[in-house]
Amino acid sequence: MKEDKIWLSPPHMGGTELKYIHNAFDTNWISPYGSNIDEFEKGLENYLGNNSFVTALSSGTAAIHLALQLLNVEEGDFVICQSFTFVATANPILYLKAIPVFVDSEESTWNLCPNAVEDAVKYCLKQGKKPKAIIAVSLYGMPFMVDEIVEVSKKYDIPIVEDSAEALGSRYKGQLCGTFGDFSIISFNGNKIITTSGGGILISRKESQKGRAAYLSGHAKEDKDYYSHSELGYNYKMSNISAGIGRGQLEVLEERIKQRRENHDFYHHLLKEFEDIELFCEPDESFFSNYWLNTIIIKGEFLSKERIRAIFFESNIETRYLWKPMHLQDLYKDYKFIGNNTCGILFDKGLCLPSGSGLTDDCKNRIAEMIYNLKS
Ligand SMILES: *Cc1c(COP(=O)(O)O)cnc(C)c1O
Repeated sequence: MKEDKIWLSPPHMGGTELKYIHNAFDTNWISPYGSNIDEFEKGLENYLGNNSFVTALSSGTAAIHLALQLLNVEEGDFVICQSFTFVATANPILYLKAIPVFVDSEESTWNLCPNAVEDAVKYCLKQGKKPKAIIAVSLYGMPFMVDEIVEVSKKYDIPIVEDSAEALGSRYKGQLCGTFGDFSIISFNGNKIITTSGGGILISRKESQKGRAAYLSGHAKEDKDYYSHSELGYNYKMSNISAGIGRGQLEVLEERIKQRRENHDFYHHLLKEFEDIELFCEPDESFFSNYWLNTIIIKGEFLSKERIRAIFFESNIETRYLWKPMHLQDLYKDYKFIGNNTCGILFDKGLCLPSGSGLTDDCKNRIAEMIYNLKS
């Protein structure tokens, strides 16, 4: 008989989520309004601090879409975007008929290379248009090079949309991810560090922007006693049920970060004498990762990522390839890419290892055994 499946990053309930869902049922707020939403937004605003105004939405993707819309991204505009990411980062650029310019990663954080971002800005200026936004991702929970990217953003006066979908609880120089962008987003999809089953937030720096995001997420319905609309809106609100899950999850966030970081310590210990496998780690003490996923780079002529994935699969252990960069996707192959394909090489050689916050000692033993067996 096969042993239980070890998933890459399954949902991990804290225990109080159902209480908040019952509360929604008891008060009959089974809708995109209600106290769970208000309290979830407030809880996140308190957690993030730094002038954060939170709008709860149906997904992180919806939050990126609204962020770009609030920055007046329109048809034909350039938007600079990290190539090494999940497709949801880039798709909202096309929703708005704007033009993505993809930028390579640097090797220390795997996120936007500051020099390549500046080259991308120059490329756009040469075409006669300043980019409307820079989308910076904190991939796998690792903050991007915030100081350097903010410097380019300030130099050319281009706002940053911070995609911290995977980085709730991560910090750069002590400051939380989700507080660095002109707009920032976090995802609560089922696989993220905490979840609402599906959902996301947009973080604005001004209360008026939060109001406008809420308005656009509710079909841009104006405050009149009949249905009045003068702008195009969306149906992007989070449900009061989902927000109930989020309230419960928020109570265990610190514990979840601790557990994910303990997984990292486990892998660090396991792999430290393994020459052929390099664990992706914080480059220095400025970076504090929530280690949403632990990722490895397979070096030299050691086993291929396909082979290692197949070996783990045989033992019912899920691993996954790294995100395939956008500039290598058929969907985006006709768009400009600036860089040396550093992220393409990471994709070729990398693998994500099981990193759920509920990973038991038994699971860890099974994983350790698999890794020792790779050696022989
Ligand atoms: C999950 C994710 C998103 C999208 O979030 P959803 O809530 O699933 O829409 C965006 N960007 C990155 C990097 C992600 O990992």
